[in-house]
Amino acid sequence: MAVIEVKDLKKTYRLGSVDVPALNGVSFSVEEGEFVAIMGPSGSGKSTLMNLIGCLDRPTGGSYILDGTDASRLSDAARAGIRNRKIGFVFQSFNLLPKLSAFKNIMLPMMYSGERKDVNAVKHALEAVGLTKRSHHTPMQLSGGEQQRVAIARALVNDPPILFGDEPTGNLDTATGAEIMAIFQKLNSEGKTVIIITHEPEIAQHCKRILRFRDGLLESDELVEEQRIAAPKAKQA
Ligand code: ADP
Repeated sequence: MAVIEVKDLKKTYRLGSVDVPALNGVSFSVEEGEFVAIMGPSGSGKSTLMNLIGCLDRPTGGSYILDGTDASRLSDAARAGIRNRKIGFVFQSFNLLPKLSAFKNIMLPMMYSGERKDVNAVKHALEAVGLTKRSHHTPMQLSGGEQQRVAIARALVNDPPILFGDEPTGNLDTATGAEIMAIFQKLNSEGKTVIIITHEPEIAQHCKRILRFRDGLLESDELVEEQRIAAPKAKQA
């Protein structure tokens, strides 16, 4: 079953009186349980695509269906609701709140979505990223890799079917980036659909399929022949 179905998707930004085309009619679908890398040079439309299928923005043409719902036609409030339920986001710069512990950072999406605060779900998410013993540390007391693991746990806490990473290894050294990819691979093997924007070919090789964009168009769509398997961190925190 397709969890994401994008049809002739278009986005043109308007800057004053100038139209800036960012996506020029893109179509593809992603099945449940896929692990997709999105690549392409700067300005090729990757972030625009991510913002659209992540329900953060509206297209100027075409449609996208998210887990059976045509999200391009929803009101802002309904799109926010579907975003909270269906998608967990992980960003390059972690985006953790500095004064809150790992535990409280992970709990935040439950507060936004108005869900009951489920302490067990937070514990489960911490366990999934191997950070149970760091739950009371603030971001400053954690390494970059650990902060990104907290961010992944935060993305997982509402148990969304889809995880989106926007250059999730971009601020990390190669070894730590591989550890983060090991976590995404584990989550994918457990059934999550994972989509990652990256400009690093090595990171894309950890995925199972690569979509390449150029000038707002889908340039190629290929399966990864030999998926690189990232070893999880030997000693978990
Ligand atoms: P990428 O993520 O691949 O670098 P983007 O989606 O950010 O590409 O950008 C695609 C094009 O859209 C670029 O020409 C960029 O300058 C333009 N663009 C992106 N966001 C905006 C915006 N908010 N307003 C105007 N133009 C934008």
